[in-house]
Amino acid sequence: MASAVPAPLPEKLVDRHGRAITYLRISVTDRCDLRCRYCMAEQMTFMPRQALLDLQEIALIAERFIARGVRKIRLTGGEPLVRRDVMELVARLGHSLGQGLDELTLTTNGTRLAEHAGALFDAGVRRLNVSMDSRDPERFRHITRHGDVAQVLGGIDAAAAAGLAIKINMVALKGLNEQEIAPMLAWCVEQGHDLTLIETMPLGLVDEDRADRFLPLTEVMDDLRTRFDLQFEDRSTGGPARYWRVAGTNIRLGLISPLTGNFCASCNRVRLSTDGKLHMCLGHDDSVDLKAAFRNGGLAEVDARISQALDLKPAAHDFRIERGAAPAVARHMSVTGG
Ligand code: SAM
Ligand code: SF4
Repeated sequence: MASAVPAPLPEKLVDRHGRAITYLRISVTDRCDLRCRYCMAEQMTFMPRQALLDLQEIALIAERFIARGVRKIRLTGGEPLVRRDVMELVARLGHSLGQGLDELTLTTNGTRLAEHAGALFDAGVRRLNVSMDSRDPERFRHITRHGDVAQVLGGIDAAAAAGLAIKINMVALKGLNEQEIAPMLAWCVEQGHDLTLIETMPLGLVDEDRADRFLPLTEVMDDLRTRFDLQFEDRSTGGPARYWRVAGTNIRLGLISPLTGNFCASCNRVRLSTDGKLHMCLGHDDSVDLKAAFRNGGLAEVDARISQALDLKPAAHDFRIERGAAPAVARHMSVTGG
């Protein structure tokens, strides 16, 4: 890939609520090799390939964000590792580590991790989030509609062997995996992985009513506290998670509970969607079109649009899970990047 076109250094990113934006999440594809029930419908219509930012455009735009103070980038999707040549993008962004960028990371479903773990480490990636809602083969297959958990477990082992720290993401699903949450934490302690539990969020239509599967993490914590000695960590990461340490270990339990605990006041992140829209909040529809800006006016226009976007960042999301209610936003998590 060609290198970035130099441009004058624009001002840092601070939104109208005074929050500094230091974290960019990029959905590199809305496609995926799984169909998790809370995330996607079984029959999904994906974006036409010509609607996508190409990898060179993603790199150039990401580098503008780094020039303006973004210190952490997460590649996500859809499944980031199903995009052809994505490792070229990872390698390119890796060159910004230590040059403004402190961390480059991915969220992945792990199915292709065994293949890519070594190259991820070589590019400078040191931590990964791997989503795994169940370790039971049948239940995993049911939740993902056709996934093979052995592939994911193999990917996790390969990543750990390559030197990558792992955080397991697990969406808490009533009647599906709730009985597996405590065993999952015990397994993570044994394996040396962190665990983050996530409440299901109302993003995009799926084939089921999310209200039927919504499991408040407040309930989950009541149960976990009877089984583990959990010590609350009073630290703000600018992210949605709150953390507990499992006493006597280095393992951290994170909770992402947008429904039962709002975290927006310290939000430090924005999201670049697969088709080049900059979303200032996962829970709102407002966005600016950086793909059009880039194709019409180059990086100067991208900078101008990013500055405008700062005024769009809302104070908070407005998620609710109610039976029969429409999703808070129509787009799926896979488009904006979870
Ligand atoms: N495919 C990759 C994966 O599954 O890790 C990356 C993209 S996925 C959209 C990112 C994270 O969002 C995953 O941990 C997934 O479980 C979570 N997720 C997807 N849809 C969600 C929803 N409606 N509510 C809460 N979490 C969701
Ligand atoms: Fe794919 Fe991740 Fe969504 Fe599951 S959660 S369908 S793995 S994008």
